[in-house]
Amino acid sequence: MSFTLHGIAVSSGIAIGYANLISHTTLEVSHYVLPIKFIGEEVARFDAALAATREEFANMRSNRPSYAAAEFDAFLELQQMILDDPLLSAEPRNMIAEERCNAEWALKVQMETLIAQFDAFEDAYLRERQTDVKQVAERLLKQLLGQPGHVPPPSRDDVELILVAHDLSPADLIQFKSHQFAAFVTDAGGATSHTAIVARSLNTPSVLGLRNARELIRENDLLIVDGEQGVVIVNPDKHILADYKLRQSEWELDRKKLKRLRSAKANTLDGSVIELHANIEKPEDIAEVKENGATGIGLFRSEFLFLNRDNLPDEEEQFEAYRAVAVGMDGQPVTIRTFDLGADKQIKGEERVANNPALGLRAIRLCLAEPQLFRTQLRALLRATHYGNVKILVPMLSSVSEITQTLQFIEATKKSLAEDGIPFDHEVKIGGMIEIPAAALALNVFAKRLDFLSIGTNDLIQYTLAIDRTDEQVAHLYDPLHPAVLHLLSLVIGSANRYGIPISVCGEMAGELAYTRLLLGLGLRQFSMYSAQVPSIKQRVLSTNVPNIATLTQKILRTDDPLKIRELLDMLNS
Ligand code: PEP
Ligand code: MG
Repeated sequence: MSFTLHGIAVSSGIAIGYANLISHTTLEVSHYVLPIKFIGEEVARFDAALAATREEFANMRSNRPSYAAAEFDAFLELQQMILDDPLLSAEPRNMIAEERCNAEWALKVQMETLIAQFDAFEDAYLRERQTDVKQVAERLLKQLLGQPGHVPPPSRDDVELILVAHDLSPADLIQFKSHQFAAFVTDAGGATSHTAIVARSLNTPSVLGLRNARELIRENDLLIVDGEQGVVIVNPDKHILADYKLRQSEWELDRKKLKRLRSAKANTLDGSVIELHANIEKPEDIAEVKENGATGIGLFRSEFLFLNRDNLPDEEEQFEAYRAVAVGMDGQPVTIRTFDLGADKQIKGEERVANNPALGLRAIRLCLAEPQLFRTQLRALLRATHYGNVKILVPMLSSVSEITQTLQFIEATKKSLAEDGIPFDHEVKIGGMIEIPAAALALNVFAKRLDFLSIGTNDLIQYTLAIDRTDEQVAHLYDPLHPAVLHLLSLVIGSANRYGIPISVCGEMAGELAYTRLLLGLGLRQFSMYSAQVPSIKQRVLSTNVPNIATLTQKILRTDDPLKIRELLDMLNS
């Protein structure tokens, strides 16, 4: 039966493929230590799950889906070989015996080791086989967890997989960087949640906030995911399928054409010089930054170095990551944000229970509460300043005392590096994110003490309108065009320009075409966004004449009727 689901469009593009349902439990396997007397039983439980999974494969052979008849046997054979390979089963047995851990944990650790090994292969075909390893391991994991899996379609050639989950954390999603899903579909999440931000940076069409997709979609259902409209069509008829295939190739062609603007300067028609920078999560992302012609990194969300691991990155590891970006960007500006952990991005094992995590111990608050963690990062960051044009950006600042404490930490770290004879840029620029209404309203406090500012519209909107950006139930209230938000933006950009302090926007608004002219009209000259969006925004900048949009921008600021605001915005963009 064909039906359509509507959610929140978070990452554009069109994907067509087969549903692969993932339950959160397979991603978040718990780890516990067993009493010695249960070790034998645990190994037997693991072996029983292996036997049951073998049986599952045998059943699959007799019930192969008709659409993939030719390939399916080869696919099953390969996955059966992986299942039977001692590489998958011997090490978990050892781990259970030696480390006394539960079978699920042992399997998950071995799966990750194997995936990393496959990832290192030069040969693209072999690299791709990591998907098979993961699928087999997950099938086995489901057996262990008492929920046998279904038949996924072959994961290669012309058959694409679409991940369908109830919820995915940003940490979950970043793991899929190497898993080549064609699209992500979830029940939970909002347009500026960090999960959405990662989906965009993976360049993967995604629709979040569908509420009951996980329940309604079955394994292997054919799906069309329209990341532009926020629509998922389940089991489409052949006319709709043909129409979407056409739209998909048109979309890809448009993207290719836009990339021709890669080396063009982003100047407006009247000659205003606009900087278009990129947001990244990992050092590997800089290849894409360059491919899309961004002229710097406006936001490196360093906290992603801390996710999906059981230990913390030490000074050396962090330094190498920051240096790699500094060197890779070859003198272009690299703005590294001190870690913004807490709320929806938690270090493993440190998950804190807070009544309102977004209002709790997050970002700079956590850094100041954990001085050792903060000092380690600052040492790594300052050391990296010697290797490129690195600036340090501090998230979630709200008061003079936080700014003062932060600057004291930086000064003390500089002093200790100087004493150790380690080189760093003594003039490194320190900036603050304006993402709390208090910071926007008291901008002079920030402008006086810092070297540059960056507006985090995702949080600024969340905190101004009191809307949890991760909660799909209030996602419809999230409104960048709310008069309160527009006034704050106008106030911050206008004041920063008057004070002569560099100001940028690095929240998702900076990468939304609908708001480019509005932000230019408010006086913004520096934007930072996910890499893939740079060419489209550049095209809009190139076709804008700033003096011509001044009157309409002011009119929007004076309007309080939401419909009228949208009408004026359409005029601005036409
Ligand atoms: C923001 O809040 O707009 C921002 C850029 O930071 P993050 O999305 O990481 O909270
Ligand atoms: Mg933020």
